[in-house]
Amino acid sequence: TKTATPQSSGGDVRLHGISKTYGSFTAVHPLDLTVPAGSFFALLGASGCGKTTTLRMIAGLEDPTTGTVELSGQDVTALPPYKRQVNTVFQNYALFPHLDIYENVAFGLRRRGIKSVKKQVEEMLDLVQLGPMARRKPQQLSGGQQQRVAVARALINHPQVLLLDEPLGALDLKLRRQMQLELKRIQTEVGITFVHVTHDQEEAMTMADTVAVMNGGRVEQLGAPADLYENPATTFVANFLGTSNLIEAEVVEAGGEELLLKAGDAKLRLPAARCSASARTGEKVLAGVRPEKVALKHGDDAGSITEGHNRLPGRIKDASFIGVSTQYVVEVPGLGGELAVYEQNIERDGRLVPGAGIVLHWSPAHTFGLDAAQ
Ligand code: ATP
Repeated sequence: TKTATPQSSGGDVRLHGISKTYGSFTAVHPLDLTVPAGSFFALLGASGCGKTTTLRMIAGLEDPTTGTVELSGQDVTALPPYKRQVNTVFQNYALFPHLDIYENVAFGLRRRGIKSVKKQVEEMLDLVQLGPMARRKPQQLSGGQQQRVAVARALINHPQVLLLDEPLGALDLKLRRQMQLELKRIQTEVGITFVHVTHDQEEAMTMADTVAVMNGGRVEQLGAPADLYENPATTFVANFLGTSNLIEAEVVEAGGEELLLKAGDAKLRLPAARCSASARTGEKVLAGVRPEKVALKHGDDAGSITEGHNRLPGRIKDASFIGVSTQYVVEVPGLGGELAVYEQNIERDGRLVPGAGIVLHWSPAHTFGLDAAQ
């Protein structure tokens, strides 16, 4: 029979003005951040942006230069790692090679002098679905299985917060995808707070409720994955989360619910509420639209394009059929540049081939505006 999942309660993490400098180099600028209890929170950013340093300050493995770390309302800044209700899972798993899986998982309990570990260890092995492998040594497991042992070993201590530092970095793509769903399931089941560090935007978006996008030691934007994707606030976030089409434009009309922009010789509209830049008449902004929000019509059919859509004439430069969609690169002479378009293959139009003259169109509602000066 399946044993009940060991429940712990999640704690919240509050960072108040924490920063880290190494000599004259600032790895993390003063940062205020709240990770809600029970949430799956991702710190996302390119190598060197300060995400690991931030995680290590939460763990107590790194002393902040300024600021405080609060766990469930308690200031833990001065506490060593083992006195915080926090455990960390590292990329290299750090399992004990001479101990079998069972003893690796039991380790935290035995160290605390707990004698009867059987029930708890079995619950944990169940949770990560490794019961049958209990007597194997770590080197007899696959990378994904070893990772699950590392998670079980951390969770058996009933931390309020589990910190994960690129835990899937060593796995191949397919296993990574599986483990993303697996970690998400485990987090939902145990209900504690997960803070996950990754440079992989798809991973962060798949797993997390809230993502903090870091760049140069600062959080550029914080939000739910869909929000960040649909409403990036900066060029960095727009480009880091997927492909974005960013069009240089000038504000022609402002003040109403919609902004009217001029881009080359075309006019574009977008909701004023979706523009994160100051947008007074005459100012430069970047108009952005995600490739899957843009549709193409063969030039001969341009008359049937929905009234009020943004539209740009162009020429197909490249078309790649990738099964679920066809990805086009379209030259838009009016902008002196290229745009990406992903069309779902619902009804394929045989005329949409490289060289074809087409019209791109999309709803103003799918357009966002960014500060051009960033
Ligand atoms: P990665 O994914 O490569 O680990 P990261 O975003 O996690 O990147 P951090 O490890 O937090 O980045 O490092 C942030 C910056 O601080 C980097 O430029 C790094 O070189 C620097 N840094 C980290 N630790 C030290 C240290 N002990 N001494 C000096 N500089 C450091």
